Amino acid sequence: MRLVFLGPPGAGKGTQAKSVAARYDVPHISTGDMLREALRNGTPLGLKAKEYMDGGLLVPDDVVVGIVKDKLESISDGFLLDGFPRTVAQAEALDAILAESGEKLDSVVYFDVDENTVVRRLSGRRTCRSCGANYHVEAMPPKTEGVCDKCGGDLYQRDDDKPEVVRERLAVYREETAPLIEYYQEQRLLDELEAGKSVDEVGKELIKRLSEVERSEG
Ligand code: ADP
Ligand code: AMP
Repeated sequence: MRLVFLGPPGAGKGTQAKSVAARYDVPHISTGDMLREALRNGTPLGLKAKEYMDGGLLVPDDVVVGIVKDKLESISDGFLLDGFPRTVAQAEALDAILAESGEKLDSVVYFDVDENTVVRRLSGRRTCRSCGANYHVEAMPPKTEGVCDKCGGDLYQRDDDKPEVVRERLAVYREETAPLIEYYQEQRLLDELEAGKSVDEVGKELIKRLSEVERSEG
């Protein structure tokens, strides 16, 4: 399966991507996670990305396309892209990368959720400093406050999940990423998912949709 998860920050893409990637045995490629890891490791890429991420802006297309291209070249059979593409230029670059190896996307799942819900989700999100796992203080709390269930790491609130940056990220989403809804509608790849429900409900509906994609591929 070659999948893209599209939607505003905080829509629940990463949460669902973990189980979908495991179910279909494909790598979960989150450009946000890759950039944060580069930053943790203090690489030139991470330091360059930080200026943009801290302000809620998009990292330049050539930088992000470069890391995704390298990653896709290193894998052979399917993927789940989460948080990429985020601009029409990135989507065109992805089409070109896939065309080089005669591949195309199977589905683009659009996580449709209203802004109030997204703001609530982002303000309650807590992230593990060590393994990057995500929690929510109300919807998905860890067993022990402030401690990651998976690795025992320390949970923190991402700087870009603070209210002033969230506002900027949503404006950037509306301006630069939302046009991809039409881009993929025109390619007949868009599958709209009502993403405002609980994690379990969204997950069940998502699996149903992806089973249909699998079936239609025969
Ligand atoms: P994205 O990857 O789209 O930015 P996340 O998957 O990190 O979003 O989810 C954002 C926050 O909302 C996290 O704190 C997550 O635990 C929580 N969350 C995800 N899906 C749901 C849901 N269906 N209902 C309530 N909270 C959710
Ligand atoms: P995310 O974890 O997906 O919310 O991404 C966090 C931040 O990383 C974004 O606000 C951007 O600054 C940067 N980023 C992640 N993916 C991309 C992308 N595809 N294009 C540009 N910037 C990105």
